[in-house]
Amino acid sequence: MAPLALLALAPAASAAVGGATPDATPEVTELRCPAGDGGAACPRGEVLRLSGEHLRETRTVVFLGGKGAKDDRRATPTTASPRRVLVLVPKGAKSGPVRVISAVAGPSRPGPKLKVMPASRVTPASSVDGATGVFPVTGKYDFGTETNTFGGGRGHEGQDILAKCGLPVVSALSGEIQHVAFQSAAGNYVVVQADDGTSQAYMHLREPSTWKKGQPVRAGEQLGVVGSTGRSTACHLHFELWTAPGWYLGGEPIDPLPSLKAWAARTTKG
Ligand SMILES: [Zn+2]
Repeated sequence: MAPLALLALAPAASAAVGGATPDATPEVTELRCPAGDGGAACPRGEVLRLSGEHLRETRTVVFLGGKGAKDDRRATPTTASPRRVLVLVPKGAKSGPVRVISAVAGPSRPGPKLKVMPASRVTPASSVDGATGVFPVTGKYDFGTETNTFGGGRGHEGQDILAKCGLPVVSALSGEIQHVAFQSAAGNYVVVQADDGTSQAYMHLREPSTWKKGQPVRAGEQLGVVGSTGRSTACHLHFELWTAPGWYLGGEPIDPLPSLKAWAARTTKG
């Protein structure tokens, strides 16, 4: 089977989605850090998720630290959608409340307090959660030959999962729909950005996905079915895994096979 190289997949400039009043004052209600304690404690350099309302136009996240503006640190989000912002905790950030600044509605009130921890030595790849993921194809599959592996053949940025057309494709991790599109090489495809800032791409789906950008998705929820759309010669799922801060947001593709095997082992055990 020929390698299924993908070209020029960068998403088009994202159009505004959702009808929520964009100029309403943003509000931050919750902080979560998958690389920290899962809550509001986060090492510098790791992905912090802010949840709240009217967050789509967020351009800046301010880490307020202690009293006064001297120790304030600013960062640009890697992702902003109506109820969710992802941002890397900047160097020099101190423990304290976090606020966002909207391009159209100005600053939020100071939100929940962040506990900043020293930068961890954990590589971004190892933050992909083998413990909570789900294997993305439900049913019989195999991993094919060398050309189906990451780096097999020219520019193959994922792992092919060979399976019958029509088998369910499910989200490996919980997160948010980052992108839904058709492309000549990828066919119908969906990108999910997990809560840890990593992205997973699911390609050659038989039909266009009914999911919309920005919708929350849970691990195990169906994204579509295995197909052979785009540049593909047999039914299979082309699966990509991107490090934080995600697909075409500054992350890079890594070999997904170790994660896929961990998820398969876990899924089989039930
Ligand atoms: Zn492939």
